[in-house]
Amino acid sequence: MEKVDYKITFWGVRGSLPVPGSKTIKYGGNTPCVQIQIGDRLFIMDAGTGIYNLGQHLIKQKKPASGDIFITHTHWDHIQGFPFFTPAFIKGNRFALYGIRSVNLTFEDLMKGQMEYDHFPVSLDEMGSSINFHELAFGTEMDLGDDVVLRTVWNNHPGGCLSYRLDHGGRSCCYMTDTEHTEKIKPDFLKFAAGADVIIYDTHFTDKEYAGYEGFPSVKGWGHSTWQEGIKLVKACGAKKLVLFHHATYRSDYDMEVIEHQAQEQYPNVVAAREGMVISL
Ligand SMILES: [Zn+2]
Ligand SMILES: [Zn+2]
Repeated sequence: MEKVDYKITFWGVRGSLPVPGSKTIKYGGNTPCVQIQIGDRLFIMDAGTGIYNLGQHLIKQKKPASGDIFITHTHWDHIQGFPFFTPAFIKGNRFALYGIRSVNLTFEDLMKGQMEYDHFPVSLDEMGSSINFHELAFGTEMDLGDDVVLRTVWNNHPGGCLSYRLDHGGRSCCYMTDTEHTEKIKPDFLKFAAGADVIIYDTHFTDKEYAGYEGFPSVKGWGHSTWQEGIKLVKACGAKKLVLFHHATYRSDYDMEVIEHQAQEQYPNVVAAREGMVISL
């Protein structure tokens, strides 16, 4: 089999809320969106506000776009860019959207909800491209064709959330955001991320913030992890590179540089995600 590129591009790396401005120029202010390009196959992790710039990039290529979009969960920061994803408005383009349902609503209803008339003037059905919905469960292993295998695992996050892993030709990337660590790493996490080349991990908090300090309450139970726990995970599952992700809104470029440096002192193969960063496997 011919070896094709396996390329990860970061379009949005911030958690919770977009925070553009002079303090977030280096790492970026858009909410989660990561492009994983495997040969001709386009895979997109989450549709936060970063997906807008990905859309503009795809439009410039002036060829039909089709791809698989994996939504971890439907909290705003992971879907809010979708109504502004221009390629989804173009007839002839095809997208498959994957995600989880809630107790009361299907995944399709959840995605359509943010585009109801009271919130947005164009409904999802009017977008123009062909959009198909696929509901996923945790523990899924699915052949996506072209020798790409998808795996999922259940995160520890309010309302539920999935992590995704894509394997191709002996190379692999785990996208594990919006998950809170447990005292002992969950066995299914270890199995899921075992030997991965890259783990993109929710490092919204620091250990100090997680525990609470100087009058600030603990953020335990908020559904997010820390960079220190990310290092523990990568080491425990024999993965290679850790990418710090879902940066807190209040984290400036300077704060991020400090955290990135501290993390690299504990584990050399760490990088903090920033918009425009590309990792090739
Ligand atoms: Zn989030
Ligand atoms: Zn969330």
